[in-house]
Amino acid sequence: MSRGVRIGLQGKQSLLLALLLAAIVAALSMQVLSGIREDQKERLEQTFARQAEAANLRVRDAFLTGERVEAKPFMEKNAQRLAVDLGELSGMPVTLYDTDGAIAGTSLPIQPRTDASDALAYTAQGMSAYITEGDALLYLAPLYNADQLLGTVQFHASLADQNAFYERIRDLFLYAGLAVLAGGFLVGYLFVRRQVSVIRRLNRAAQQIGRGEYLSAAPVKRRDELGELAEGIFDMSGSISSSVAQLHDEKRKLMEAIARLTELERQQKQFIGNISHELKTPLTSIRAYADLLEMYADDPALLGRARERIGAEAARLYELVEKALQLSAMDVYDFETKAEQVSIVPLLKEAAERIRVKADAAGIRLTLDLQEGSVWADPDNLMHIVLNLLDNAVKYNVPGGSVALSNRLAAGETSATRAPRMIVEVADTGRGIPPEAQPRVFDPFYTVSGDRSRATGGTGLGLSLVRSLAEKQGGAVRLVESGPNGSRFALELPVREPKRES
Ligand code: ADP
Repeated sequence: MSRGVRIGLQGKQSLLLALLLAAIVAALSMQVLSGIREDQKERLEQTFARQAEAANLRVRDAFLTGERVEAKPFMEKNAQRLAVDLGELSGMPVTLYDTDGAIAGTSLPIQPRTDASDALAYTAQGMSAYITEGDALLYLAPLYNADQLLGTVQFHASLADQNAFYERIRDLFLYAGLAVLAGGFLVGYLFVRRQVSVIRRLNRAAQQIGRGEYLSAAPVKRRDELGELAEGIFDMSGSISSSVAQLHDEKRKLMEAIARLTELERQQKQFIGNISHELKTPLTSIRAYADLLEMYADDPALLGRARERIGAEAARLYELVEKALQLSAMDVYDFETKAEQVSIVPLLKEAAERIRVKADAAGIRLTLDLQEGSVWADPDNLMHIVLNLLDNAVKYNVPGGSVALSNRLAAGETSATRAPRMIVEVADTGRGIPPEAQPRVFDPFYTVSGDRSRATGGTGLGLSLVRSLAEKQGGAVRLVESGPNGSRFALELPVREPKRES
């Protein structure tokens, strides 16, 4: 992400602090150094003013006590001696000029070579002046007798000491400045490092969230703005995580719904294909008899057989259409069941009575083992389920066999349904269902053996309808066991109205 040279916060802040401190030192040193300069200048001026005064006194004394001559001859005569005297008096080499600006005398071993003409112009007007040349300083002041200008006195001073002092102080400040710069940077670096490490931790936390790894705690615990930021990042992580989870959940539900719809569509197509095929068989038979009757209308044997077959096929057609309609209505429309609290014993007894004629005709014994209780179901649907199960138990039984209808209360057997359930069982002593066919008996149009089933008038829709109806009641139906000695189907129903999911 970074472009060009990246200077971190730590470097920037430390540098800023160091530069700030160094700037303070620089400003301070400039103040102090200029103060020293001022002070040195002031002292020099005072010293020279005093020296000039003393020189004037000395010269005036010589002028007044000596012969009374004019300024020029006085200087010619006395200047050299006075210069030596004044040199001893002031402790500095002294040169004297006459009023024309010519050297009249000097305490130096050789004549000074500095051109002092500019300064002499000042002294001629009664003012004093400086000339600086490296460490050397020349101070020139006018010399008077009582009221007459005699010439100029020039002191040769050295600024070496003062300049050395000034330079020492300046160097001191320079080193102090460098030390402050380095020290400031170090202190800043150490101080900012803590903050920067916190910022780095926050940055890492943000990157973690970006990768979808949500935080289990705030990345930093502090009682300041950084701490608040850390809390903010933690909260943000929580809300992003829950929204993402919600989105995933919604997506999952959507995928499930799509899968259900796809499956439903497939089942419907298969159902339509199957039912068309199933309807064709009896219709073909009816049409065949109709054709035969047209050709041999006066054959009484054919007439009898045709009446019998057409009646049987029509009944089969009727049963097919009725069951198909019920099945499709339940799958396609959200079939409203009118559930209510149903007392189970009277209902089971009635179902048994309705099947008894058929059982007796087939020589099958029907036994009941009933217990009082109630279930939450649509009574018509419940009757339909039990009749279908009993019908199969009789239909697929063996001569002299028996069918047992029983019920019992079971405390919530499955973990999903803790509520108590009513179990209704239909057990027979029939030929059983082969193991490989067992998982498919609830499929629409499935018959264990097509031909044999047709012979007994089966459509392969009975158990499919039973399962759909049972599920609409909030119940379930399953084949508990089946073998050469018979089969046992169990219907499980809620005892009370199940709580609706909102
Ligand atoms: P059908 O109308 O053919 O009876 P079902 O859906 O009721 O259709 O049953 C599907 C198949 O399951 C039947 O064809 C039959 O072979 C088998 N079946 C159902 N109940 C029993 C039972 N009690 N004993 C043996 N086989 C059974």
